[in-house]
Amino acid sequence: MKKLVLILGDQLDINSPVIKKLNPKADQVIMIESADEAKYVWSHKAKIALFLSAMRHFAKQLEEIGIPLQYIKQSPKSIGDTLRAIIKKEKCTHLVCLEPGEYRLKCEIETLASELKIELEMQEDPHFYCSRQEFSNWVAGKKELRLEYFYRLMRKTHNILVDKEGNPEGGQWNFDRDNRKPFPKKGPGLIPPPELFEPDAITKAILAEVEERYPDHPGSLAHFQWPVTRQQALQALEGFVEHRLATFGIYEDAMWTDTPFGWHSLLSSSLNLKLLNPREVIDAVLIAWKKHDLELATVEGFIRQILGWREFVRGMYYLDMPQMAEDNFYKHQNSLPDWYWTGDTKMKCMQEAIGQTLDYGYAHHIQRLMVTGNFALLAEILPKEVCDWYLAIYVDAIEWVELPNTAGMALFASGGRFTSKPYIASGAYIKRMSNYCDSCQYKPDVRFGESACPMTTLYWNFLINHRKQFEASPRTRLMTANLSRISDADQESIQEHAKMILGNLNTL
Ligand code: FAD
Ligand code: SF4
Repeated sequence: MKKLVLILGDQLDINSPVIKKLNPKADQVIMIESADEAKYVWSHKAKIALFLSAMRHFAKQLEEIGIPLQYIKQSPKSIGDTLRAIIKKEKCTHLVCLEPGEYRLKCEIETLASELKIELEMQEDPHFYCSRQEFSNWVAGKKELRLEYFYRLMRKTHNILVDKEGNPEGGQWNFDRDNRKPFPKKGPGLIPPPELFEPDAITKAILAEVEERYPDHPGSLAHFQWPVTRQQALQALEGFVEHRLATFGIYEDAMWTDTPFGWHSLLSSSLNLKLLNPREVIDAVLIAWKKHDLELATVEGFIRQILGWREFVRGMYYLDMPQMAEDNFYKHQNSLPDWYWTGDTKMKCMQEAIGQTLDYGYAHHIQRLMVTGNFALLAEILPKEVCDWYLAIYVDAIEWVELPNTAGMALFASGGRFTSKPYIASGAYIKRMSNYCDSCQYKPDVRFGESACPMTTLYWNFLINHRKQFEASPRTRLMTANLSRISDADQESIQEHAKMILGNLNTL
């Protein structure tokens, strides 16, 4: 028996069961950098650099503890083809790995194992609170799959923010209503900066390599300061709970010019690479809650993102793939405007959200959902193009978390499969939650005509086109009630102006 243990680029957990159980004297461990992974979507340079740097730091750590590692740098072939060649050359009989986060890779590995007639031991990743079986059990027999009920079950199962009888801390499960404030009129004031990490020699070499190999890829490396090791990820976690968590909740949805990070944690990339375990993040938050006497609303709001949303979307991804990648509920077909890749648009909100995305590979949830995602839905863009953009452009983007958020939540491409309504908003929402509109050449409250805000025109156009769907649900009926206050003549002008916008998306 000759065993090959594969560690993928987003499985950088030193406590992973495949590492714990391996026999360093007999087994061979392999890590593969594949140029295909950077190119199958047109990845942001910072995303490529983060993966490579975290992988090479992890390889160094494995070597230091005496794990026999074969590390393949920049293979011109795909991960599957590189693996196939090695299995043949080394005459391996067994392949061991954790289940990949991407369905595409899982299928590729399963196919090659059956083709080469080797034993495949693909283990479930214990990183997550909810196993795939537990998620399927929860889904069984349910007509509606909603985060809220899944989240309550997770709270009870893992005894987080519940009392001995299983009741929620503070008497309610969800404090979302307390967590939606805009910044004060004068702006956010001084926000303690997140922990940022100066590139070391390994990262510096990678930054140069990425510039050389992927010169035409989007985004900048000038601001690259992401955590690339477990130690740095732990430092980032500590910095967040000590200095930023207290105000996270209240301003979770707020946006402001030149404020790319707000009070957010910036922990998603470390969690998704598995440098951090969600349990240690939640434990640190619970300790900080007591230590600093923090508001329950902020603590619950943060925990819901990790214990609720992150686990829920992962469950949905594996449940609904490969169909989820094809879903297109509204049958939208428009192309993604070119300026999604450059930020070169007159719409200030898009300029800001895309601009910081290109600078850092980062935008926070509301920018992703209610700015770039909202516009893509209202502009009737083909979901596949939007999803590829999100997968390419964010440093934390791995398909299991990116796709359900983009297709399922932002674009309503899966219909009401796991969200109760399409998340759409006009310029009025952006005006309320940010200062973007103050310096925009469009006017958020103008519905048609030269100065009309494209978000606003397209919002009303969307409601007119899908009036029946919105009237049918008590959660969205109020939106169409507002539509009936707009005269028929104005509704016609909105539709005419929307037609012009939809035909000229690149010029906005
Ligand atoms: P914080 O706001 O500080 O939140 C804390 C943590 O909660 C995050 O680090 C993340 O791990 C988790 N979290 C929060 N919201 C979600 C969510 N909706 N789904 C899953 N986990 C969540 N997140 C990714 O990790 N990768 C993606 O590719 C990704 N794509 C997205 C695409 C769209 C269209 C939308 C609307 C959201 C997407 N998200 C994605 C979720 C969320 O926007 C990011 O997790 C968050 O912005 C990361 O920044 P942060 O670490 O500062 O998060
Ligand atoms: Fe965005 Fe419209 Fe506000 Fe301009 S006016 S920033 S386009 S919402």
